[in-house]
Amino acid sequence: MFFLLLLLVNVAEAQQKVYLTLVTHNEEGDFFCTNQNAYRANRIWVKYLVDSLTSKGVSWSFQSDWRYLTALTNPVFETAMVMSQTNNKNILKWAQEDKGLEITPHAHESVYNYADVYHLHFEAGVVPDSIAGGHLYNASQGFGSWMELKAGIFGVQFPAQFFKPDILWGAGTPGHVSDPLIHGCWHPLDTLDFLAEDSNSSLSVVGQGCRLVVDTAYSISEMMDVIRGVVETMQAGGFPSDMIISQEIFMSQSKMDSLRARHLISFIDSVNLSFVNTGLAEWKSIREIKTIWQNQFSEEPVKQACGDFMISGKWPPAGTFSVFPNPFSDQLYIDTPETVDLTLLSIEGKVLFHDHISAGTTVLSLGFLAKGIYIFRVQNRNSVESIKVLRD
Ligand SMILES: [Zn+2]
Repeated sequence: MFFLLLLLVNVAEAQQKVYLTLVTHNEEGDFFCTNQNAYRANRIWVKYLVDSLTSKGVSWSFQSDWRYLTALTNPVFETAMVMSQTNNKNILKWAQEDKGLEITPHAHESVYNYADVYHLHFEAGVVPDSIAGGHLYNASQGFGSWMELKAGIFGVQFPAQFFKPDILWGAGTPGHVSDPLIHGCWHPLDTLDFLAEDSNSSLSVVGQGCRLVVDTAYSISEMMDVIRGVVETMQAGGFPSDMIISQEIFMSQSKMDSLRARHLISFIDSVNLSFVNTGLAEWKSIREIKTIWQNQFSEEPVKQACGDFMISGKWPPAGTFSVFPNPFSDQLYIDTPETVDLTLLSIEGKVLFHDHISAGTTVLSLGFLAKGIYIFRVQNRNSVESIKVLRD
């Protein structure tokens, strides 16, 4: 009897879980440091969501680029009166100290590199975690040359600042057209073989898992389907048992408004009800996921791409969308059976437009484009397709 009990306890402990992290980015291109009213409006939604979501147990990794941090340390933006709403601290310091958010840099590295953005956090009175939040996985130079982060880098604007992260999060491609959507953790080898293991490296990836962007372009049930797909894959034994199952929930900070805030909260409530309260998923920060990987998974580089093990019917196949008429002169119709990421590129590969398109028919007014050939890239949760279109 005693042994049987022990066995049961062990089985319960070995039960896999999906580790969820809410990740937000503000971007280099955002309005924050130039528009005080927009900054203040955004601040209201950030505060509201931090209060609401932390009370619901959500682990939130708050990742900032330099424009937001510059606004944050501007006394005209963060006045004593504004800070009185957040325990007399700027919003980021409050979010970290009073609410326990994970604070990490995100850098597009055109003006401020990762070490500079890391430094700007200290100027705002917060101690950022050494996580590089967002990088190009296959770029060998310039923005996203994460290989340099293995050894650590010095700032360009703040040359005395050194930054050597031990976690990479959010491997991407320009326009997010073919991001490596991977569950699990490993030590990436190099930009040519990002998925290979470098056992000599201390820099590890915490994989973002399937793409899950919170936006009003996606219904709650569509977003729930992503997590349900991951959970059902786990329940069906579709992941290796020695793999840590990481899964992001991403939101753009600049897009926060009353509609999206309510949408996010409803979604989080559904996630908690269906998956967290039932023990199938658990909220963890990116740092906590790495620590669990080290302590319970012996830092074994076990990983799996999103959708590699598919439950029939959960992920509709790509290839069923259509774009018409082609050639077009002004309006272009896009027909898709599911929500997709749509990117319009010039023939040289420059990203001109990127958005989420809901299921059904969407009309794009593209009369402003110069005549010529363009490429539509359509990505769903597990595949990418491109179509050439002619504007005449
Ligand atoms: Zn970014």
